[in-house]
Amino acid sequence: MFTKILIANRGEIACRVIRTARRLGIGTVAVYSDADRHALHVDMADEAVHIGPAASRDSYLRGDRVLAAARQTGAEAIHPGYGFLSENAGFCRACGDSGVVFIGPPVGAIEAMGSKAAAKNIMADARVPLVPGYHGEDQSESVLRRHADTMGYPVLLKAAAGGGGKGMRQVWEAAEFEQALAAAKRESLNAFGDDHMLVEKYLTRPRHVEIQVFCDRHGNAVYLFERDCSVQRRHQKIIEEAPAPGMTPELRAAMGSAAVRAARAIDYEGAGTVEFLLDGDGSFYFMEMNTRLQVEHPVTEMISGQDLVEWQLRVAAGETLPLGQEQLQIRGHAFEARIYAEDPQNDFLPVTGPLLFLQPPDGSQHVRVDSGVRQGDEVSVYYDPMIAKLITWDEDRERALQRLARALQEYRISGLTTNIDFLYNLATSEAFRAAQLDTGFIDKHRAAIFHDSQYELARDLPLAALYLVLEQSRRGAELARAGGDPWSPWHHTDAWRVNEPNLQRFSLILRDRQHDIEVEQLTTVAGSRYLISCDGQQVHAEGSLSGTTLRANIDGYLLRATVAAHDDSFSLYTQDRALPFKRVAPDYGEEAEQAGGSGLAAPMNGTIVTLLASAGGRVSKDEGLLVMEAMKMEHTIRAPADGEVVKFFFQPGELVDGGVTLVDFKAD
Ligand code: ADP
Repeated sequence: MFTKILIANRGEIACRVIRTARRLGIGTVAVYSDADRHALHVDMADEAVHIGPAASRDSYLRGDRVLAAARQTGAEAIHPGYGFLSENAGFCRACGDSGVVFIGPPVGAIEAMGSKAAAKNIMADARVPLVPGYHGEDQSESVLRRHADTMGYPVLLKAAAGGGGKGMRQVWEAAEFEQALAAAKRESLNAFGDDHMLVEKYLTRPRHVEIQVFCDRHGNAVYLFERDCSVQRRHQKIIEEAPAPGMTPELRAAMGSAAVRAARAIDYEGAGTVEFLLDGDGSFYFMEMNTRLQVEHPVTEMISGQDLVEWQLRVAAGETLPLGQEQLQIRGHAFEARIYAEDPQNDFLPVTGPLLFLQPPDGSQHVRVDSGVRQGDEVSVYYDPMIAKLITWDEDRERALQRLARALQEYRISGLTTNIDFLYNLATSEAFRAAQLDTGFIDKHRAAIFHDSQYELARDLPLAALYLVLEQSRRGAELARAGGDPWSPWHHTDAWRVNEPNLQRFSLILRDRQHDIEVEQLTTVAGSRYLISCDGQQVHAEGSLSGTTLRANIDGYLLRATVAAHDDSFSLYTQDRALPFKRVAPDYGEEAEQAGGSGLAAPMNGTIVTLLASAGGRVSKDEGLLVMEAMKMEHTIRAPADGEVVKFFFQPGELVDGGVTLVDFKAD
């Protein structure tokens, strides 16, 4: 076994690999960019080497620097994690040339699967079933279009070099072909430096079921069952589970052995995943093979009881597979939910910002949190906006799902928008509980998933008001202690006025709605009680605030909340919900309106790709105005209402900062 390895990655996967290495007594070396100097993975590793500026092409994608770091520290092997250099054949070869072990498959296997087109030819020879489609060399538009026309619509255009859903477009009818091809090629060129396209029959209701395979260099190969990754947005997985609901032993064996055939066909070694589309009638089709550890590998670990990173290390060190096929068994059911900094209400656009407050649920044998960030870290434009993976396990699907829902409620993040509420709504939806899975799940069940969190305003608003008055009196008490004169009237931060009722007013915004609240302090012998009025209702409340814990009694209902407060906003986390409040000084009521004003702002740093409307032209609500590219994905900025495009402030090719106004738009 190795004595020291280098992890050529960052974030949760770097931390996850370090944990296993440490358990096995293997030394670890991290690499980091300027942006990651203080990152968790750097802290966790025994040693760390700086490899360049924040942009990944200048650091995490620089194979030469990573190799130099390995030489400098004497690491014998490199674990690439996923993404970055993990499927880069050139890097794998360079490792071999410098006598460093690449913890992954041999170069030939990466090359064979590197192009989706070439991979399909190999799989056809190995009798692995394929989705009908065109994966030839001739890339002229007329040829691609002819194949689409004969196959019949809908078709799917796919980047041959693709991954992560990038460079992919559905085409529903011939008339859309040209524009979709241009967009898919542009995105692919941008993300992969290559714009070769495949045309595939688009299956309308498939499931994404993938098989985890493992091979060693002594001729052993096994499959560690399947994962169902059908729940996706933007063709990217968001919740995965194992085993796949409804899977029969026969189908599992058929898919498992097809996957092993696929791996053997390319002399595979190490961990790999063979992805299939599973159609309603039980037919399955090879989609692609990922020659690395997958993001969603933990669900397989939970149901098999195996540590796949340990398996990877053993195989890379030349050992045989720890277990044979007959020794592997499925126990229970596991889910993984990917927690992202993104806005589900805005087409899942990634968001950036600080993790001002971050409190994951407690880990246990049922709950696992794989994360690479800490409170105070920043989700930046440079890297993937995934914050963590939340994994739960139990004896059966129903119980594991119950644990997932519960753990999502306990996951507390403030400072930026996340998909946690969305995941919770999804996980608790009727259709998901009934495992009605297919890759169109989110679209199909939009109404059930996209409802805003249900707030109980009659309780939530008084809770917030109570927090504000308690916080004020706490501050008053602190000032009094600091000031030396505890009786100074200047330390009263309540609204006490001679001959006037003791009244305070607050304006709070909870999810885009402003609420005006009045609090009257009723002092009794026992302490302070408050009469709180809002939205035409009145309740009595009392409570205490100590540290970040708020204890409240609202009309006899006792509850406890955790408080995360920042400048003009604060979040209250109760047992079952997150309440993100924004404070508005009552006199500045217009602030709320400004947010929905006339300019449309760039959601993040990026580049303008094309303008879809013309200045002076009229558009209807939701019509595309322009396309911008950020985080290697294209995002369409749409009209918020019917109206007129007065002016574009930027032209294609220009760089824009997040937050700047892109379009002068006049809504009707
Ligand atoms: P990537 O490598 O970019 O992740 P994949 O080829 O793995 O792309 O496909 C990603 C997802 O796109 C699949 O999980 C599935 O939901 C959808 N998909 C891919 N091919 C098809 C197809 N032919 N028909 C329907 N859906 C497809």
